[in-house]
Amino acid sequence: MPRFSYVNGRYVPHAEAAVHIEDRGFQFADGVYEVISWIGGHFADEVGHLDRLERSLREMRIAQPMPRRALQLVLREFIRRNRLKDAYVYIQVTRGVAPRDFKFPQEDVRPSLIVSAIGRPSFDIAARKKLLKKAVTVPDIRWKRRDIKTTSLTAQVLAKQTAVDRGAYEAWMVDDEGFITEGSSTNAWIVDKKGTLITRPTDHNDILKGVTRNAIQALCKKEGVKLVERAFTPAEAYKAKEAFITAATTLVMPIVEIDGHKIGDGRLGNLTEKILDFYFAYAADEKRRQERWTPK
Ligand code: PLP
Repeated sequence: MPRFSYVNGRYVPHAEAAVHIEDRGFQFADGVYEVISWIGGHFADEVGHLDRLERSLREMRIAQPMPRRALQLVLREFIRRNRLKDAYVYIQVTRGVAPRDFKFPQEDVRPSLIVSAIGRPSFDIAARKKLLKKAVTVPDIRWKRRDIKTTSLTAQVLAKQTAVDRGAYEAWMVDDEGFITEGSSTNAWIVDKKGTLITRPTDHNDILKGVTRNAIQALCKKEGVKLVERAFTPAEAYKAKEAFITAATTLVMPIVEIDGHKIGDGRLGNLTEKILDFYFAYAADEKRRQERWTPK
């Protein structure tokens, strides 16, 4: 557990870190967030996450709490004070503290900025290849702007708990037309019988444009892996040869059972393993991670 959190300009002991009860993040979930993996001394996909944070803020009409460069310095000071080696680093920005009222505060209210962290297992690819997880499907009951990474996560909390109650790790959410959107906190991928990788497109705002997803998309292009962006149903997923999920937290995580249906032979699939290898090599490469990604 990190010793310090950052709250509105101060590094405070974690146990004392708090925001006001009239913070709009608390009252209305009126805020956005990012989580970036800090892996053995560097951030994975830092630029992509900061790009998306700024986009989420623009879409929500919340002011940027500080320039990007200043935020990067805060993140590094936060890491230094906590002496973190491997961690999930959370950045949360809310519309700020104001008397409770649905509409935006009229006077100039400063956005709240919070940085916190959770320790993560160290970067061990062999161990990661042994982590095989199950998923279940649940209805997607979220709002329609899923491209914005808001702190309003009630639907995902319920979905994840349903997964846990049903003995699974992740919940794949299904839209009203019967297609899988994404996991409760991950993007969803399958590999069909012909070896084609399939994941849902991001251009309708109905899923989050995952930063990890984006990196894997680029790696597939570079490595000649055939990737098709289209929606798929649970029935198609049950028959898939392989399945996996991606996120800054899970990185690339194989899924070997969906709703009780064994995927492929129930073991780590060849293409999933390759993608794991590609991603881990990419994440270990500081230089390449600095490549700029501009979300749509
Ligand atoms: N989809 C949802 C709903 C998420 O909450 C997340 C991550 O939190 C993702 C996908 C994966 O996004 P990223 O790879 O940027 O972590």
